[in-house]
Amino acid sequence: MIAVEEALGFIRKEKAEILETEFVATPHALGRVLSAPLVAPLNLPSFRQSAMDGYALFIGEKHTYKVVGEIKAGDETSFSLQKGECVRIFTGAPVPDTAQAVVIQEKVTVKENTITIDAHPNKGQNIREIGSQVQKGSVTLEKNQELNPAGLGFIQSLGIQSVEVYRKPKVTVIVTGNELVAPGSPLSKGKIFESNSLLLDAALNQFQVKPVVLSKVKDTLQSTIAALEKAIDHSDLVLISGGISVGKYDFVGEALAQLGVKEVFYKVKQRPGKPLFFGKKERTFCFALPGNPASTLSCFYIYVLPLLNRMMHKNPTSLRRSQLPLTHSFHSSEPRALFLKAFIKEGKVTILDHQNSSMLISFAKANALVYLPENEATLEKEDFVTVLFLPEANQIVSE
Ligand code: AMP
Ligand code: MG
Repeated sequence: MIAVEEALGFIRKEKAEILETEFVATPHALGRVLSAPLVAPLNLPSFRQSAMDGYALFIGEKHTYKVVGEIKAGDETSFSLQKGECVRIFTGAPVPDTAQAVVIQEKVTVKENTITIDAHPNKGQNIREIGSQVQKGSVTLEKNQELNPAGLGFIQSLGIQSVEVYRKPKVTVIVTGNELVAPGSPLSKGKIFESNSLLLDAALNQFQVKPVVLSKVKDTLQSTIAALEKAIDHSDLVLISGGISVGKYDFVGEALAQLGVKEVFYKVKQRPGKPLFFGKKERTFCFALPGNPASTLSCFYIYVLPLLNRMMHKNPTSLRRSQLPLTHSFHSSEPRALFLKAFIKEGKVTILDHQNSSMLISFAKANALVYLPENEATLEKEDFVTVLFLPEANQIVSE
């Protein structure tokens, strides 16, 4: 049995990054990571643009200018201005080559076809010069840049219709257990509605990974081997839930061994999720997750996610952490490290009831996990604890 930080260290040591790439249409590249630098095919802006609504001037000696025309956004017309002349102009419109400054309309007094300004303008003011954001041929976004909404907009503004990104990991989820039935089927005594496949599918979806889900694996060595063998052949990452404890009908460990999956670690000093297995076969990583639903999900967020993010070249890789005060005292005699479902509100954290690993109800209400390292389970109200923000909570928590 190894400590939490040791287990995380083992995962960190693996070379997980997927190097194969693919081209993806820009509108579908949200959250993807560039596998090559993005070179600008044009200058941005590609022509001199007015940054304001106002007047574009060929600066003269006097403060009065003759208005010789009008240019609005999208116009292709241009004017050859003489000293002391100007054009009415609007934001985004092309500024004539002969104009040296744009004066905003609020600073101008208009009289018939002349304007008067009260101060000499500075050269270049309110003009977006060609290439001032990006120069044609230059690297605009580096390799390994993750694309956010602004990134997509920026790429689109360069007219680039597809980008080269790392391909996504192929992930297979397997759930094992004779007791599992799908919702919609009758629930005879001794059976339960299977939930881990949906839970893992949804958790992966939050990170833009769509797994293949195999949900009818019985507790026999043969069917466990068959499912795992197929999954390993087709995946970069296999998540199998259940059957990894030491019960007579737990066949996952044996199946992994027979298939030549090399163990990196098995069993972590933690609650929930003690019988966690991590191993690999050639380039495929395998996590055997304890079947209890809260253990499965907890292990997903703490161990699987950092590896998955590394596979996708994403950063940061782990759940965001912080230290926050507790709203109550807390005691547990459990010597193992604890990951407790918790709720953060107004900068303080409350550990929820129903922490048992078979119970999802507290996880369903949680926006964070409280991480208590080994032997640290006596806490007073207002004591600071380590909290790991669950993905949904990233947006709603302010620190
Ligand atoms: P196991 O790790 O296979 O011993 O399972 C531990 C507990 O988790 C048992 O109570 C199982 O019934 C339950 N369990 C295992 N797999 C699932 C699943 N896919 N959905 C819901 N509960 C499960
Ligand atoms: Mg089982």
